[in-house]
Amino acid sequence: LDIKPEDLKELAELGQGNGGSVKKVEHVPTGTIMAKKIVLIDAKPSVRKQILRELQIMHDCHSAHIISFYGAFVVDPNICICMEFMDKGSLDGIYKKHGAISIEIVGKIALAVLEGLTYLYDVHRIIHRDIKPSNILFNSKGQIKICDFGVSGELIDSIANTFVGTSTYMSPERIQGAPYTVKSDVWSLGISLIELALGRFPFADSSSDEESDSDLENTLSPGRPGSAIIQAQVTALPNIRSKTTSKKDKRKSRGVSLQGGGMTMSILELLQHIVNEDAPRLTPEEKFPTEATSFVNSCLLKDPDARPAPKDLLKHEWIIQSRAEDVDLEGWAATLD
Ligand code: ATP
Ligand code: MG
Repeated sequence: LDIKPEDLKELAELGQGNGGSVKKVEHVPTGTIMAKKIVLIDAKPSVRKQILRELQIMHDCHSAHIISFYGAFVVDPNICICMEFMDKGSLDGIYKKHGAISIEIVGKIALAVLEGLTYLYDVHRIIHRDIKPSNILFNSKGQIKICDFGVSGELIDSIANTFVGTSTYMSPERIQGAPYTVKSDVWSLGISLIELALGRFPFADSSSDEESDSDLENTLSPGRPGSAIIQAQVTALPNIRSKTTSKKDKRKSRGVSLQGGGMTMSILELLQHIVNEDAPRLTPEEKFPTEATSFVNSCLLKDPDARPAPKDLLKHEWIIQSRAEDVDLEGWAATLD
């Protein structure tokens, strides 16, 4: 299927992220409904061609838990990526509208994400790099699939050099400047699962609720609710400190508002919190099966060497149970809208 820009009819706006926007479109010659992601790329034409070449790997990604790829093309400053349309949208949209997701369903989500991650790494040596509820999609057939994984090194570089991204699902070792590994994805999965099961971002009221007045100047702008924004090229805490602390320009730190607990934490405080404090947990413990809390605790081991890889976690008791359990995901999908 060779997709030409003029063959696509825009039907609706699906959402907006930091890198661009996603639209529901119809590929008129075939009648196929697709999601078209438009990413603004500040790169030379040669680099854009390279990105397009690298994106072609997605044609070879075939898994029940990976979004299908239809094709990509350049429309001047943008790259457009056409992918499978998921009619129930992303899990962040679902829980924000319908509340916390029951733990049996969260178990099926964990299983699906682990299978997707294991496929990407075992077959293509791809690390996802951006696991979070907005990149886990759901449809009315009850399917759970992941999207927005890091296939193109050039694309990752072009975006990282030009835009501002969320960092809140970032593992402690990544915040401190270590390279991405599959273990970083596991951390992000742990944070995402707590968020879905509690119906709120887990760091929101995990710390003190006193008015923040740190000497870390917050030069960052608040984004959508639940998203904290920081310049993406700043990868380690010492850099963040030196880049953003300025005696001269000392205003009161206005925290980025994180949804849920009613407290505010600036992105810098959040990053420091992730590095320095205990990882969040699935609480209250009596509300959840012990296998589920044990699973989340393994995902959130702060030492990446101690943290299991996705493949190891497929053998965890909670995942074995979740696989065997009969959960009516199609029925759940029918209740959403
Ligand atoms: P960020 O830019 O921080 O990664 P994001 O994941 O929300 O945030 P986008 O990837 O641009 O940003 O996606 C925007 C929204 O579009 C998503 O939250 C999701 O609800 C919707 N969306 C993305 N891809 C699809 C798809 N294939 N089918 C249906 N909806 C989609
Ligand atoms: Mg996304």
